[in-house]
Amino acid sequence: MGLIVQKYGGTSVADLDRIRHVANRVAKTFDKGNNVVVVLSAMAGITDGLLDMAGRITASAEKRELDVLLATGEQTTAALLAITLKSMNYSAKSLMGYQAEVLTNRDFGNARIVDIGAGRIKKLVKKNNIVIVAGFQGCDSDGNITTLGRGGSDTSAVAIATAIKADVCEIYTDVDGIYTADPNICKKARKLDKISYDEMLEMSSLGAKVLQIRSVEFAKKYNVPVHVRSSFSEKEGTMVVNENVEMEHLVVSGITCNKNEARITLKKVPDQPGIAAKIFSPLAGSGILVDMIIQNTRASGLTDLTFTVAKTDYNRALEISKKVAEEIKAEEVLSAENIAKISVTGVGMKSHSGVAAKMFSTLANENINIRLISTSEIRISCVIKEKYSELAVRVLHSAFGLDKE
Ligand code: ASP
Ligand code: MG
Repeated sequence: MGLIVQKYGGTSVADLDRIRHVANRVAKTFDKGNNVVVVLSAMAGITDGLLDMAGRITASAEKRELDVLLATGEQTTAALLAITLKSMNYSAKSLMGYQAEVLTNRDFGNARIVDIGAGRIKKLVKKNNIVIVAGFQGCDSDGNITTLGRGGSDTSAVAIATAIKADVCEIYTDVDGIYTADPNICKKARKLDKISYDEMLEMSSLGAKVLQIRSVEFAKKYNVPVHVRSSFSEKEGTMVVNENVEMEHLVVSGITCNKNEARITLKKVPDQPGIAAKIFSPLAGSGILVDMIIQNTRASGLTDLTFTVAKTDYNRALEISKKVAEEIKAEEVLSAENIAKISVTGVGMKSHSGVAAKMFSTLANENINIRLISTSEIRISCVIKEKYSELAVRVLHSAFGLDKE
């Protein structure tokens, strides 16, 4: 018996049959004596469809109106689930973001949750209602509807779980948990029983798209246990928890691959104070996020500066780099889009040496050249040619002992 938040993603509520399936699952949890608060996404594809419709009117729709539009996706599923549960004789009530008191800032399209009142949710729960909250949406202090950024219903769910002090936040999705690698790339990948918030944060930012990264930040900050599991099976998924919870003792718990970055090199840049600022300030000014940065010094007072940016920012970043290169008299600008960033992640790295050496020698054994390297306390990333990315994931997966029997 407990208080459980269940969040169902777009594929889990994609049509009326699936909504009925979700209703059965919610009802079963409720019948076991739990209180249940459900947070929903829009039906799969609906948010994209709505955006597309607005785009056919104008490429510059006002963000405020876009949020009013996008919020209808979650309004629809919340109402449909409430109607379904009521038709099964359960007392259920749907709430939109503003009714659930999800207060955000005014950053339309990418709003941050400032506070969740949760009074109304708690009251309804107390009266034994199944409460269904539209995910992804909130409102600002003037009552304008806001949305939390793509994939934001994960964050809604964790935030609501925090506000009502739920025992667990279950995230139902179309995969049955977090894997040691993408099973589509690596047949020997296996599901992890547990993963720490920090590992999940690294892996989310590296492109494992199971959870919106902000939801993990939220869960970590407030220590909310998150259970990632499939709505299509009864099997236990993966618990995302505090590092101190007993874990499998893996040094490395996941191998990820990100093909969404591109590399830019400014060659033979004068090795002087202020040069890096000259290069990176205009990039930052244009809202371009730089990921890896490597500088290597040549003998002659010159240096090469290499960095990576998201592929979506590549053209703009290249243009800016070429302009700066001219100003600072760099010899030339080189770039490549066909790269992949392969990363090994694990909290075990904090207490084990030799992870980097093993990663490099494993790649070397396959004759894979490493172009860039970056590290954090619990991650090592190497940029390689994109065409070797799948091979790299597989050989690293075996080298670090992650292959299932
Ligand atoms: N419906 C929104 C999206 O597609 C939010 C979500 O599903 O989490 O991004
Ligand atoms: Mg999602």
